[in-house]
Amino acid sequence: MKRYDVVIVGGGSGGYFCAEKIKEFDHSKSVLIVEKDKIGGVCLNYGCIPTKSFISVAEVVENFKNSERFGIKSSFTLDFLKVFERKERIVKILQTGLYKKLLNLGIDIIFSKAHLRSDGTVETENGEKFQFKNLVIATGSEDTQLPFAPFDGENILNSKESLSLKNIPSKIVIIGGGVIGCEFATYFSIFGSDVTIVEMFDTPLPSTGNTFIKENAKKILQKNGIKFLGSTKVVSIDNLNRKVSLSTGDSLDFDKLIVAVGRKPVVGVEIENVGVEKDQKGFIKTDWFKRTNVENIFATGDVTEGPMLAHKGYHDGYIAAKNICGLKSERMDYCFIPYSVFTIPPMSHSGKSEDDLKSEGITYKILKSNYAENGRAATYEARTGEIRVYLSKEDKILGVDIFGKDSDIIIHQLLPLIQNGIDYKKLKETVFVHPTLSEIVSELR
Ligand code: NAD
Repeated sequence: MKRYDVVIVGGGSGGYFCAEKIKEFDHSKSVLIVEKDKIGGVCLNYGCIPTKSFISVAEVVENFKNSERFGIKSSFTLDFLKVFERKERIVKILQTGLYKKLLNLGIDIIFSKAHLRSDGTVETENGEKFQFKNLVIATGSEDTQLPFAPFDGENILNSKESLSLKNIPSKIVIIGGGVIGCEFATYFSIFGSDVTIVEMFDTPLPSTGNTFIKENAKKILQKNGIKFLGSTKVVSIDNLNRKVSLSTGDSLDFDKLIVAVGRKPVVGVEIENVGVEKDQKGFIKTDWFKRTNVENIFATGDVTEGPMLAHKGYHDGYIAAKNICGLKSERMDYCFIPYSVFTIPPMSHSGKSEDDLKSEGITYKILKSNYAENGRAATYEARTGEIRVYLSKEDKILGVDIFGKDSDIIIHQLLPLIQNGIDYKKLKETVFVHPTLSEIVSELR
């Protein structure tokens, strides 16, 4: 029986990144990844990358639509099959690159479903067994189904199935105005679909608990022609006639119904055989160092509590790798895990929101600046947008909210300061290149 220092079940963000880091910290460690589907997990194959490939195309479409503002008369035809093939190509290139990179690092990869046996081994589908010194469970998450709207891959779709469509549906109803709902609605609407979001809370992105983000999301969806029905639930679905009945008494027709009501953890291996515990919501319980209740077993990514974000999975993997390699590790702290919602324009956040600061009774001051006052934004015809930074009495950045062009890039100027507790004054002493969108940060007052 082959023995590895580390066996990792799951080759997504929480798994492969952990493998890379183990090799970086201690190259002599032998590492095996067992993956039942494709390397790169949901993010690369069915999530972040394919959706951003579509969002990038939607940005190009928007540029065509707005070209007269730049003095260009244009017409365009969207060939969605080509757009789809481009998305597939991008995923394939990244997947192949990642696979080669892992092999070059000396990481072994087996494509199979993994089983966890009570003798403390991992067994693959062909009956091969592997012993491990440490095990990392990084088995991810899946879309939640609504009991009255099971995914059928035809009319009622989950996020993965929606990314496989080769035509643009004429009428789409999306249940759930969360991150997936808003991003899918954005590109489908820009591509020409008639899109309605049905959300049980009164604003989009309710789970952010962030008024700045929620209110701007409403405006952005409206600007992109998306109908948003807040405080509304779907009560029943007539799949035959493609009609949903709403709690308001109204009904909506659809060609495709996308259900995006959240994701849930998938444990996917027999943890009961080795005594690893789950919490009531189905997440594998870990301590701050991503260690489960069993000394040599770790868990990372979406299968553990915390924001379901690929970069949270990376950070989990990093923390687990440090501990496996016997290095001193910081405690996992999700407070500063940033996020961007890739609407057009995108919205980005890190740290505490103003709502958090108020509810926690923390004294703060707000600094603001607008895209409308930024020279480069004017040249891009991107005058709509705002940044808000929340500062402590001691001039530490407590949080940041931005919406506007490239906010997903701009936020990175503030992340090292927030995450390392560096004074905001240091930023004010920094010389910025002019004219850039980045100056929106130096223009804060
Ligand atoms: P979500 O939790 O962001 O949103 C689900 C939404 O569905 C919520 O607003 C909820 O109120 C609503 N909802 C639930 N049941 C409903 C019902 N019966 N009727 C109407 N509305 C209902 O989840 P998601 O959008 O499915 O995304 C899943 C995960 O993936 C999230 O954790 C998200 O952070 C992550 N994700 C992140 C990004 C990004 O970072 N850009 C992109 C996509 C997904």
